[in-house]
Amino acid sequence: MDAHTEKLTREFQEALKATVAAAVALQRAQDDFSTTPHYSVIENFAHEAGVQLSCLVQAQQAALVAAEAGTTAPCPECGKICQVTTKTRDVKSIDGDVELAEAKAYCSRCERSFFPSAG
Ligand SMILES: [Zn+2]
Repeated sequence: MDAHTEKLTREFQEALKATVAAAVALQRAQDDFSTTPHYSVIENFAHEAGVQLSCLVQAQQAALVAAEAGTTAPCPECGKICQVTTKTRDVKSIDGDVELAEAKAYCSRCERSFFPSAG
């Protein structure tokens, strides 16, 4: 692992610790901890927190990928340079609903849409 990846890994771990502390505090504010809760209460809340994290990571990563496609792209059929726009659509991921951004372009010469990618 290079130094940059190690630094990002440490930053992720620190942010995750802060998120865990916030999640624990939130659950204790919402649920009754005056007596020992059944473990399933803790487990279900933790699972839901993980699902929310997954959906947020998916949405943000997809938005970055879409942004990296640029503002113009050549049509894969004729090579005409076309405007790229970013559209969002709702996707059912394995962890739930995600608003997915994707780069999309339309070639007026070929009368077709295409999905450009970076590189
Ligand atoms: Zn074309």
